[in-house]
Amino acid sequence: DLVIVGAGLFGLTVAQQAVEHTGARVHIIDIRDHIGGNAYDRLDGAGVLIHQYGPHIFHTNNKAVWQYVNQFAEFNRYTNSPVANYHGEIYNLPFNMNTFNRMWGVVTPAEAKAKIEQQRAEAGITEPKNLEEQAISLVGTDIYEKLIKGYTGKQWGRPCTELPAFIIKRLPVRFTYDDNYFNALYQGIPNGGYTAMVENMLEGTEVRLNVDYLADREALNALADKVVYTGPVDAYFDYRLGALQYRSVRFETETLDTDNYQGNAVVNYTDAETPYTRIIEHKHFEFGTQPKTVISREYSAEWKPGDEPYYPVNDEKNGALYAEYRKLADAEPGVIFGGRLGEYKYYDMDKVIEAALDVVGRELA
Ligand code: UDP
Repeated sequence: DLVIVGAGLFGLTVAQQAVEHTGARVHIIDIRDHIGGNAYDRLDGAGVLIHQYGPHIFHTNNKAVWQYVNQFAEFNRYTNSPVANYHGEIYNLPFNMNTFNRMWGVVTPAEAKAKIEQQRAEAGITEPKNLEEQAISLVGTDIYEKLIKGYTGKQWGRPCTELPAFIIKRLPVRFTYDDNYFNALYQGIPNGGYTAMVENMLEGTEVRLNVDYLADREALNALADKVVYTGPVDAYFDYRLGALQYRSVRFETETLDTDNYQGNAVVNYTDAETPYTRIIEHKHFEFGTQPKTVISREYSAEWKPGDEPYYPVNDEKNGALYAEYRKLADAEPGVIFGGRLGEYKYYDMDKVIEAALDVVGRELA
């Protein structure tokens, strides 16, 4: 009944719901040799679960989504709290009283607010028009210079003045001594990992890996009444309006003969000179006690054909191009587009699941 292209969280959720509620016969295919999309994790030789496509911390305010994922896994109590390393100075993230204290020596929220207000006024910002202005207006010039400018430049390959303000608004700014990176009611990492969790979603679904949908789409379309496509939307239309831009990341992973390398799961290197954006020490996601540790240095780059697309570049130019692809997608009979790549949207995992549950309710019920 249904062919689903892409075994990431969008496709998996649609598949699971379609099987459970409609008894549909569902076939899910993926070009990769594994399921789980970028949430995929695997056990390394050192016995550490590796987040192969970068750190994934599940967090949500949506109780229905939380209950949904808890059907397939139990979650641990991991709370994301990365630290920033700026030329050897360590700052707590997200931006909170610990950060302000380390940066300026301020102790009270009123002192921190006064400092930020002073820096915002000196920069002359009233209505922030881009990421730089938004950042300075939220946390002042010093934090922008030390913790945002270099990191964002590396991550996006563009200056902060050319990036949309919403990207920095993903991070909370708090005037409490609270290092929890997310404002979310529910947070954690599935015990046993994401791959084990998504395997539990697949009961009754046929999975075919290493299948390139776009190379064989007529034959695959002929199998089903409906297609759910979660690959890049521009690739689906053979880039006929031009290519959308994506950021890709690559990881250098190594096993170290120490039980604790950096004391935290994620350390962001926020200066412009260090070539990687962050180092992930995977064992800390699950409070691992293995004698060795595995770390991944994360490098960001502009996507080019052959790379994995990770992040849509949601600036004005790409937004306008996506709007044109969206029209084509809406007019495509029998195909539902979804997920980070199918909708060209900087989705978090919970939002992907929420969107997939909506689609099922609307289109497949
Ligand atoms: N950011 C930053 N410094 C940091 C962490 C994040 O400037 O130490 C900015 C950067 O522009 C980044 C954005 O905040 O793209 C959003 O960060 P988030 O952690 O949400 O990114 P993700 O984990 O999705 O890569």
